[in-house]
Amino acid sequence: MRTLHVGLTGGIGAGKSAVAARLADHGAVVLDADLAARAVVEPGTDALAAVVEAFGEGVLAGDGSLDRAALAELVFSDTARREELNRIIHPRVRAWMAERAAAAPEGSIVVQDIPLLVEGGLVPLFDFVIVVDARDEVRIDRLVRLRGMSREQAESRIAAQAPRERRNAAADRVIENDGTQAELVEAVGALWRELTGRRDGS
Ligand code: ATP
Repeated sequence: MRTLHVGLTGGIGAGKSAVAARLADHGAVVLDADLAARAVVEPGTDALAAVVEAFGEGVLAGDGSLDRAALAELVFSDTARREELNRIIHPRVRAWMAERAAAAPEGSIVVQDIPLLVEGGLVPLFDFVIVVDARDEVRIDRLVRLRGMSREQAESRIAAQAPRERRNAAADRVIENDGTQAELVEAVGALWRELTGRRDGS
């Protein structure tokens, strides 16, 4: 049986992590790009050394780990510096994910959860792309209620990402997540049947 390589994305607060968790319940091998982005800069990695070389010792916390807030401060409003950081981090994240995807048992459904999958031009790497979508109002409400953001923060984070029309256009399947958790569980059940069908060639 061949392995099916699935990309999972969606705007902030739409419910990617929730969909990833339900797919894992069904047996998917889930790889999280946010987790990878942390793993590749752990103390002792060449990526952390490269970040310090480029941005200075000020991005290190007292215990030698990366001070994410200090680094975010330096790159937040500076596109050139952000791109410089991305040039260090992104190839290593891709390698981290690719290595683990390749190690999955044959016949697995490997789901890579990547927030900027569409923006990063990664759609062609996958057999199947899932986009999780929810209305902006629903996303703002979740980010404010469950993530402690202010309404302004939530709106500006949403505005900084690709518009949902562009993201949805790249999808093989859009999961609408405007409803309840129970509705999402049901939608992911149907999605899992679709994915296993694709893997099995039906
Ligand atoms: P991010 O881009 O920030 O990683 P995300 O797309 O992964 O966001 P989630 O973390 O899955 O989004 O969902 C955002 C919040 O909304 C979480 O607290 C999650 O538990 C909640 N949530 C997701 N789907 C639903 C739903 N159908 N009903 C109620 N709450 C939900």
